[in-house]
Amino acid sequence: MSIQVFGLPVSRGVAIGRAVLVASSRVDVAHYYVEAQAVEHEVERLRHARDAVAQELMLLKEEVPEDAHAELVALLDVHLMLLHDDSLAEATKQWVRERHYNAEWAIAAQLEVVARQFDEMEDEYLRERKADVEQVAERLLLALGRAAALQPEALKPRDFAGEDPLVLVANDISPADMLQFKRSVFTGFVTDVGGRTSHTAIVARSMDIPAVVGAREASRLVRQDDWLVIDGDAGVLIVNPSPIVLEEYRFRQRQCELERARLDRLRHTPCVTLDGQAVELLANIELPADAPTALASGAVGVGLFRTEFMFMNREGRLPDEEEQFEGYRQAVAGLKGLPVTIRTVDIGADKPLDRMNVHELRHEHLLNPALGLRAIRWSLSEPEMFARQLRAVLRAAALGKVRLLIPMLAHVEEILRVKAAIAEAQESLARQGLAHGRVELGAMIEVPAAALMMPVFLRHFDFVSIGTNDLIQYTLAIDRADETVSHLYDAWHPVVLQLVHQVITQAQQAGKPVCVCGEMAGDPDFTELLLAMGLRSFSMHPSQISLIKQRVLRTDTRTLRARLAATLASDRPQDTWAGG
Ligand code: PEP
Ligand code: MG
Repeated sequence: MSIQVFGLPVSRGVAIGRAVLVASSRVDVAHYYVEAQAVEHEVERLRHARDAVAQELMLLKEEVPEDAHAELVALLDVHLMLLHDDSLAEATKQWVRERHYNAEWAIAAQLEVVARQFDEMEDEYLRERKADVEQVAERLLLALGRAAALQPEALKPRDFAGEDPLVLVANDISPADMLQFKRSVFTGFVTDVGGRTSHTAIVARSMDIPAVVGAREASRLVRQDDWLVIDGDAGVLIVNPSPIVLEEYRFRQRQCELERARLDRLRHTPCVTLDGQAVELLANIELPADAPTALASGAVGVGLFRTEFMFMNREGRLPDEEEQFEGYRQAVAGLKGLPVTIRTVDIGADKPLDRMNVHELRHEHLLNPALGLRAIRWSLSEPEMFARQLRAVLRAAALGKVRLLIPMLAHVEEILRVKAAIAEAQESLARQGLAHGRVELGAMIEVPAAALMMPVFLRHFDFVSIGTNDLIQYTLAIDRADETVSHLYDAWHPVVLQLVHQVITQAQQAGKPVCVCGEMAGDPDFTELLLAMGLRSFSMHPSQISLIKQRVLRTDTRTLRARLAATLASDRPQDTWAGG
């Protein structure tokens, strides 16, 4: 039976493929294909893991004290039985042999199948045995060695002739995990939780593959291997579509491809409005390896390098100065003389260092991470870490045009401490005789306090960049990663528009460059409005550049003045703008 699940559209386009369910962060394992000749080796890994777990359980059984509860021994027996049961032992091998999944993926996939079967059991006692299967699967995963399983190299896409495309379905995916899936085998993503500008959604968008988040029940309704259609424009997931619906979506998929090819032709067209206003379109990147994509998209530089992604998936070990320098050098070299805006690390909120997902963060660890030790607050609380990053950026500045951007500032005191740290980094490099360059210094305007004290910021900084994702979150008090309040996360809210307009106007009056690097910059619904506000610098995912350029090329800013005034005065700006 075909079902539809509604969520939030976060990355455009249509994806059609078979479902791969990732159960939870506990079974959050690497997903990659093994080569045909390596299949038996992978099966062997499974066998070894099973033997190791069997031994472990036997040992535990022997160690149970005489007077211990008999139930404990019985439980270990159940685990041993489950371990050898065909539904786990044989079926996991099948995933490896038939679909070429790696051993960890095979276990996670089979666990999902078995867990569903337990969920559907009438008998409560039997239903509760699901926890035992999960524990056995976890032991197996541990035996396989999680560390070895998380090698990013393993996730490279592979031409797997004849295989169906795959779509990943999960309750939640942390930004760190999403990063692992970059350049992976998946052609689409669906999650139960998350907001449109959650960092998980942002990384999905940067991958330019269709995604739907906040689809609440999706991971419960979808079964391993179901056929799925993701409509990334409408935010709809269709499970087991009928042949007619499938054909319709295949048609739309081809239309999207044609439209993209048409837009692609604009890549190297200069970006100028009909009335001759030059507009700068820059790229947002997450990793140094994204630099070539940014350049190929026609971007005239990088407006936001979110360096925190270089700090993730490292089991808590932070990159040292050399490693960071190498990353920044690679990005600068990749941009071939175009400017690169490097933002200091923005860890915290929905971007934890480790693999925690948003739910865990919100409910188990921190009640309100978005208001906590995040971004520059974290950097200033870790002076040595901050110094390493500043030194690495300054060294990269000797090799090309580098701008330094500071996230989440709200206090004069923070600004002064940042400037002192930069001066100290410069002096230490000079003392050591290490080559380094000058950087233009910019502030993210993403906290209402910053937007309301622009004169102070403009005195201290060479440029500003408006982070609309956070500016909306903090102005409206809406957690950007929480799907339950996503209907209130409103980029068209009159106060949000007034703040964005004020920041642009005041920066321009002070003769300082101003950019928007939040998701609003890559949303074609806002292009004309931002142009009308006077914005001439936009930074977005590389895949959005051609579409935004098309909008710019069609705009005559002279015709927008009256519409802007009416919109800013309106308490329903979206309607007023559309009606104008
Ligand atoms: C923003 O807040 O708009 C922004 C660009 O930063 P991030 O999305 O990384 O928080
Ligand atoms: Mg931000």
